[in-house]
Amino acid sequence: MQYEYDYLIVGAGMTADAAAKAIRESDAPARIGIVGIETHAPYERPPLSKALWKDDKPVESIDLGTARAGAVLHLGKHIAAVGRVAHIATDDRGDTYRYRKLLLATGASPRKLSFGSERVIAFRTLDDYRALRRYALPNARIAVVGAGFIGSEIAASLAGKGCKVTMLFPGDGIGAGRYPRSLSNFLDGYYRERGVILRAGVRVVDGRDLGDGVELALSDGTSARFDAVVAGLGVTPNTELASAAGLAVDNGIIVDAQLRTNDVDIFAAGDVANFPCAPLGTRMRVEHENAAIGMGHHAGRNMAGATDAYTTLPFFYSDLFDLGYEAVGLLDDRLDVVEQWVQPYREGVVYYLDGGRVRGVLLWNVWGQVEPARDLIAAPGPFDVESVRGRLPRSV
Ligand SMILES: Cc1cc2nc3c(=O)[nH]c(=O)nc-3n(C[C@H](O)[C@H](O)[C@H](O)COP(=O)(O)OP(=O)(O)OC[C@H]3O[C@@H](n4cnc5c(N)ncnc54)[C@H](O)[C@@H]3O)c2cc1C
Repeated sequence: MQYEYDYLIVGAGMTADAAAKAIRESDAPARIGIVGIETHAPYERPPLSKALWKDDKPVESIDLGTARAGAVLHLGKHIAAVGRVAHIATDDRGDTYRYRKLLLATGASPRKLSFGSERVIAFRTLDDYRALRRYALPNARIAVVGAGFIGSEIAASLAGKGCKVTMLFPGDGIGAGRYPRSLSNFLDGYYRERGVILRAGVRVVDGRDLGDGVELALSDGTSARFDAVVAGLGVTPNTELASAAGLAVDNGIIVDAQLRTNDVDIFAAGDVANFPCAPLGTRMRVEHENAAIGMGHHAGRNMAGATDAYTTLPFFYSDLFDLGYEAVGLLDDRLDVVEQWVQPYREGVVYYLDGGRVRGVLLWNVWGQVEPARDLIAAPGPFDVESVRGRLPRSV
């Protein structure tokens, strides 16, 4: 088959949805096509590790309603090549898609353990959620590998469902390296109190499917048996298509402030894009909902003729049992970390300073402060440990 679109979007995730809706607002009669490997229409990913477990919300509730943008969805299809001169993308079955403007919203793929099994799930998609749900029965023994965003969220959700959860991770504690050590220690205790077993400082080196379970071999020489294993080992950006098409790639697809690649008719946005972040004065690639939606929207508008720069500093958020936060900028405990607690580890603000500037802010159970935190990061300072205290929360 041969298809013709004004705007073609590769990838059918949250970025694609936001872009298609923005294009429709700017260019009412446009022909918009979206091609995605997953067989589902675009949906919200964040509930997969939290809300869907807490409220037993139906999975239908996460559908983003992309069809409202009048985009034609080609699902279960993989774009294998982009011919830039001819402006034609080709999928894995040989179908072609001619485009005027192209958006690469190919996102990121989860890192995997070195062995495979139906019971080992590198958690990312709705299908992964459904697969895990089958094993996540009360008293099921589930290993969560990794203590970053996905590992800590999914461990809390599984414990909430009565599973016997063991977290295995190479670092010192939950969120280590991102949160201050004291907060990470508190979280370790919080998880233990809720029945989660923590095994810090260990890696999974191998494993085997036992038919009715999985045996993991660990770096400390021990082995352990589980009913299922969830891997939250981080992601790598899906850049192969862009590389093969000769686009600039370096930890993501390189885009300018307008979210254009080095081909003026090809844009990139969301988890896959490496963009110039003006407020931090550096390039970055982030894996956050706010960036996916914001950059998707922005790229869509620019594909349809606008020329605005994307200047937003994306925020992100997480829920861990009944704790939650929003955060902006760089959370890195190698920076100068200033903790300001109203109630220790229940409510407070953590500032991350470098060279007299605020580079990141963690708003721990403090809400409605994302804009003031962005302003603080944009402020020239200079700030030090004393002068930054009390800057947030700010009345808005
Ligand atoms: C479980 C989970 C929980 C999360 N929770 C939070 C949270 O609490 N807060 C937060 O800020 N962020 C969170 N995130 C991150 C956020 O969801 C992502 O940043 C966002 O969904 C990225 O969207 P995207 O469209 O750029 O990429 P993706 O979601 O990766 O979508 C890209 C799509 O493109 C497809 N694709 C790739 N290559 C091709 C190709 N060649 N042809 C066709 N299709 C292709 C992929 O299969 C995929 O479906 C979470 C993510 C996960 C997985």
